Amino acid sequence: MKINKNYQNIEETYLFSEVAERVRKFMAQDGSASLIKMGIGDVTRPLCKSAVDALIKASEEMGTESGFHGYGPEQGYEFLRDTIADYYQETSGVKLFSDEIFVSDGAKSDLGNILDIFDQDNIVAVTDPVYPVYVDTNVMAGRKIVKLTATADNDFLPMPYPGLQADIIYLCSPNNPTGAAYDRTRLEQWVKFANANGSVILFDAAYESFISDPEVPRSIYEIEGARSCAIEFCSLSKTAGFTGTRCGYTIVPGGLVRDGIQLRKMWLRRQTTKFNGVAYPVQKAAAACLKDQGLAEIRENIAYYKENARIIADTFTELKWPFTGGVNSPYIWVRCPKSMKSWAFFDELLAKANVICTPGSGFGECGEGYVRFTSFNTRDNTIEAMRRIKELYSEG
Ligand code: PLP
Repeated sequence: MKINKNYQNIEETYLFSEVAERVRKFMAQDGSASLIKMGIGDVTRPLCKSAVDALIKASEEMGTESGFHGYGPEQGYEFLRDTIADYYQETSGVKLFSDEIFVSDGAKSDLGNILDIFDQDNIVAVTDPVYPVYVDTNVMAGRKIVKLTATADNDFLPMPYPGLQADIIYLCSPNNPTGAAYDRTRLEQWVKFANANGSVILFDAAYESFISDPEVPRSIYEIEGARSCAIEFCSLSKTAGFTGTRCGYTIVPGGLVRDGIQLRKMWLRRQTTKFNGVAYPVQKAAAACLKDQGLAEIRENIAYYKENARIIADTFTELKWPFTGGVNSPYIWVRCPKSMKSWAFFDELLAKANVICTPGSGFGECGEGYVRFTSFNTRDNTIEAMRRIKELYSEG
């Protein structure tokens, strides 16, 4: 028996455990401090009423002979796939076919599982800073990774460059952690590159529902040519507060063919072999969120977070701290003042303002000197955290 030795090459990310440890130590010294967590990546608003009603109704159905559901289709129930197709049509003007949509228990699983259909011998391009899942899942599989640096010089939106070799390209827009989002023109260049080179773009649209700028595509399929080079991942986690309820979806267009094989067919084969579908009540709740009354309700929650993001962004504008994000994203990526390093600023903010952020260096080398704030706290806490920061750092 031989273990997968690639696991020994995964870098331990101490990021969130180190944050927790520093907070614990701080509280041990000053137990009365009223901490505000501005680093949280999880949503906090409760599920909308339409989702809860659908969960209850579907659960009750499951307790009846006529309404009981056993194994469902691995690809997801047709009612949900049709609703997702309608959602794309409405929000992006994109036409999807039902057999291109695969329902799952969330984007993270699919982002990892999709690698089953690719050979080990592929060069993978990720951005730096990066959502660590893209890196770790490929290290586990022993793939070579190239990093595309995301800095203020390129608006935190890395672009293809002459000589770039990349078979699998991860793009996350709006981005976690930077909050930056690709506009149409920039995304067109990536699609052109991928089609010209036979690469596949893995497009993570987990934060698409935060986009308000019409120049920022909510789906990569808004770009001509994307159907022959891109797989899109999305989920209801941030869109509808499903981080604990679990439902996502992946789009593999019929036009995406490599080595004469439709990747859609490979993914279908993979899913039918290794996955047995998402709970019926959860799929009912997901469908309820993506239409009519449910859509109006989830948009209220998103508007709430976006207003928090605006409050944070306004604070950094006032303080003249360079930042990105916060407009089409719940994340604000801000340069630490006084050229401080990420962890030094984290410590200072914790000690002097009792505010917790996430050190940018935990997302990659290019994150050094930055921290990430999120808009997922309550309005009152967001306002209070910004008040403390302004009090501490305003000049004069
Ligand atoms: N993709 C990105 C960029 C994320 O930030 C997250 C979660 O934070 C996910 C995917 C995972 O989403 P899900 O809850 O659908 O697994």
